[in-house]
Amino acid sequence: MPDLLLALDYGGTKLSAALSGPHTTPDTGWLNLRRAFSPPGATATYDQRTMLELAREIISAHGQPAALGVSFGGPVDFSRGLVRLSHHVPGWENTSLADQLEAVFRVPVRVDNDANVAALGEASFGAGRGLSSLMYLTISTGVGGGWIIDGRPWRGSGGLAGEIGHLTVDPEGPLCLCGKRGCVERYASGPYMAEDARQMILDTPERGRALLDLVDGRVEAVTSKTLSQAADLGDPLARQVLERGAWALGTGIGNAANLFNPQAFILGGGVTKAGDFWWQALRKCAHQTALPEVEFEILPAELGDDAPLWGAVKLAQEALLEGGVKAQP
Ligand SMILES: [Zn+2]
Repeated sequence: MPDLLLALDYGGTKLSAALSGPHTTPDTGWLNLRRAFSPPGATATYDQRTMLELAREIISAHGQPAALGVSFGGPVDFSRGLVRLSHHVPGWENTSLADQLEAVFRVPVRVDNDANVAALGEASFGAGRGLSSLMYLTISTGVGGGWIIDGRPWRGSGGLAGEIGHLTVDPEGPLCLCGKRGCVERYASGPYMAEDARQMILDTPERGRALLDLVDGRVEAVTSKTLSQAADLGDPLARQVLERGAWALGTGIGNAANLFNPQAFILGGGVTKAGDFWWQALRKCAHQTALPEVEFEILPAELGDDAPLWGAVKLAQEALLEGGVKAQP
């Protein structure tokens, strides 16, 4: 009987469950995939009930999986399969998610933070295939990251390695939601770039003419997506904001390259669809920041929103090999 593996992804706004078999790859696609939105105001109880429904639909159609891998959108204690909290959904504080799922499905379960799992996914099935050291970054509503070092996830002593979004690039810069100043995320995330653009338009509307036209003059409708469109049209204000985001991110990547000397940085998330202008500015700044002899590539991710699910498949494979209830730290 070929082994079926169940991958679960608890995102901030979306829940996904996918089933893989022995020959499943991103090219063949999933044996089965179910998604549900986690509506605003959802709780941990609601999300868990919805996820179990998705999983049971899949299992009733295909049979029992041999192991589960889980990606969770928030800090996780991997060694204990413990969710510390969710930044989006209340009620997840100190939840033994691996224990809960093992009690329901009676198979080995591995749970890790979404950035670490996505890094594992891209390294195993995506843009990082064949590489032994890389950092995966997601640049969307926030900026997060996960490391693969010598072919294995590097989680850090408390599971918090890879927080590149909160590297400081300007100690006197604007305040970030984490409470510090001048973080990479404060300049480079989609919501912060949109916020900065809205503020700059109020000060110098003539420089953001193309951007204003795109949103029919409604400043509040500016998003990182409309910023990218306006930058493509040559809008000076949109270009300035995107260039500043690329500068902050490139500075963070260049510094990380000096510290760890990985082969590649793999970038996913909505902001990476910003186009050539953003990628060129980012690569230039990253290589200017790193020492000239420190070589690395900056590559677009290949698995899109499914990167955490593919990483969860890899976690499930490891759970199957290692057996038992829990991973060792
Ligand atoms: Zn911060």
